[in-house]
Amino acid sequence: MTLPNFPVEGGCQCGQARYRLTAAPRSVYNCHCKDCQRFSGAGWSTSMIVTEENFELISGDIDQYDRKADSGNIIVMNFCAHCHGWLWNDPPAPGIKVVRAGTLDDIDWAEPVGNIWTDSKAAWAKIDPAQVKFSKGAVDRTPLFEAFTRLHQD
Ligand SMILES: [Zn+2]
Ligand SMILES: [Zn+2]
Repeated sequence: MTLPNFPVEGGCQCGQARYRLTAAPRSVYNCHCKDCQRFSGAGWSTSMIVTEENFELISGDIDQYDRKADSGNIIVMNFCAHCHGWLWNDPPAPGIKVVRAGTLDDIDWAEPVGNIWTDSKAAWAKIDPAQVKFSKGAVDRTPLFEAFTRLHQD
């Protein structure tokens, strides 16, 4: 799947909160951490790393929740203030946002290239061994960036 022409948009279920990506994310991957399982209600969540300057909140009131990670870091989680759909996280790393790929209006192009926190993945979750894999968090995200670039080289 080739990348779309940017900007593209996404938003919450009720339509109150809308955002725009003005350029491609740096990577798309699945996170199998327990918190993503709890917040998504699924086996994993699909995340996009977006450079801050390429993310614009178009409209909507946002509710925030400070989640304490195992590392002790605070990750600010952002939800629609009305329907409480989970939209993006602000990680401690400066300059990026981690946006939930499932909130894109069109998710067809947002194919994951890797998996993180596979130590806590569901026993039935099948992982493509050819993909980038981190047993815990990706301290250095470079392999995820490179895999995404490779996928969209043509
Ligand atoms: Zn909403
Ligand atoms: Zn996670």
